[in-house]
Amino acid sequence: MRVAVIAAEAVPYSKTGGLGDVAGALPKALRQVGVDSLLITPCYLQTKSEYLWQTAIDDLWVDWRGGSYRAKVFYSEANGSPTFLIDAPEYFHRDSIYGYREDHERFAFFNHAALLLLRRIGQAPDIVHLNDWHCGFAAVELASNRKWDPYWSNTKTVFSIHNMAYQGVFGTEDLWNFGLGSDFARNAFMSNGAASAMKAGLEISDTLSTVSRRYSFEIQSPENGYGLDWLVRQRASRLIGITNGVDYDVWNPQTDPEIDAHFSLDNLDGKIECKRLLLDQFSLPIDLNRPIFASITRLTAQKGIDLMMQVAGEILEAGAYIISLGSGERAYENFWQRLRDHAPHQVGVYRGYNEKLAHQIEAGADMFMMPSKFEPCGLNQMYSLRYGTVPIVRAVGGLDDTVRNFDAVNGLGNGFKFEAYSADKFQEKIYEAIFAYGDKDTWRTLQRNGMSDDNSWENAARKYVELYEWTRRL
Ligand code: ADP
Repeated sequence: MRVAVIAAEAVPYSKTGGLGDVAGALPKALRQVGVDSLLITPCYLQTKSEYLWQTAIDDLWVDWRGGSYRAKVFYSEANGSPTFLIDAPEYFHRDSIYGYREDHERFAFFNHAALLLLRRIGQAPDIVHLNDWHCGFAAVELASNRKWDPYWSNTKTVFSIHNMAYQGVFGTEDLWNFGLGSDFARNAFMSNGAASAMKAGLEISDTLSTVSRRYSFEIQSPENGYGLDWLVRQRASRLIGITNGVDYDVWNPQTDPEIDAHFSLDNLDGKIECKRLLLDQFSLPIDLNRPIFASITRLTAQKGIDLMMQVAGEILEAGAYIISLGSGERAYENFWQRLRDHAPHQVGVYRGYNEKLAHQIEAGADMFMMPSKFEPCGLNQMYSLRYGTVPIVRAVGGLDDTVRNFDAVNGLGNGFKFEAYSADKFQEKIYEAIFAYGDKDTWRTLQRNGMSDDNSWENAARKYVELYEWTRRL
């Protein structure tokens, strides 16, 4: 089976969040279970030149906005699968990956170019796997083309929802500019008087998936459907949830090149050294008996930062450390900064994005906080589990799929989990975690339970293969 994965970001070429991790890892995992997969993604200013192995196409002519645009295509296998990177400097060589007024135009272009590229490089794939609103355009273009173009006649589309909160909404007048002005296309995009790329992808793709099992149900409710829950319910028989995997080649405490001491299920000594180094790095006094609570996240309301703000005082009162890595909304950034000024011997803060530090924190911390409002899948809780860092999470989306609340009597469970979005409930779990940390054997059990979990991509990839097979038969 031939599968083309199309995504707006993919590790190691680009990453702002979980989508990048998934799109980078899935094509490789698919190859490992026998699928002939390839990846198409933009070449950004941020894409390191060492990953651009060679020029695949020097002149991909893209008919665009009444003219013709000459894009270049690079080839790489830096993520472990054949990858084509579309290079269109006007759209993608910018200071940030997202956040521009014309993002919809940038990704409409990317989608159109990606479909042209597939045609240029050979036989049509059986499945085009589209990801998030950035790829809603290709769902519609491919479905339109399928009606008259034999090249696409046997190609089906799978559309994965990584985050329903971002929908790519824009004025319908642009549809004409993108070659999507037909009645068919307009109807697909039309949502409350505007055009929505997420809606188009949901409506038109042959099948749908979400990045965790629980999230596939959550987006059918108004609370998490962001105005499109009705459409998800309507298409529920074509929807399946597949919990993301972890790339254990990248996130493995036994081999991780980003950390200075290594450890495993059988020997956790290296973790203590990582903790010492982490405290040292943040110029915190080194007391290895005190737990470190960590957070690595985009600082947005989705991530439950306001709950962290409410419990931070209690954590410090209990004598623990807090280390936060992240950037985002100013109010949240200011909060962490103020907390550090208030308790400089207990709090470490890094404002920004830092991949290496993310690995070092996972390795050196004791607890990891993810009290999210919603979490389509969440990856950091799974990285934490592998690094013996016990997650404290709210029971939503992928957090609910992957974290089992600790049962101290029977020694079962891999973390701490609460239901209601409430600081009191979060705090209860924090106290439970501190209490468990006080007993070395209990803590070891918790760590081992998490470290022996298998959240590998192999499991997830097999489920995607089943989804593709099903989609082909439709
Ligand atoms: P989301 O996609 O909603 O941001 P996920 O948990 O699915 O959340 O994925 C986030 C990914 O981005 C993880 O790999 C996490 O380690 C990483 N990440 C988030 N913020 C930072 C940061 N400031 N520095 C380094 N890595 C970060």
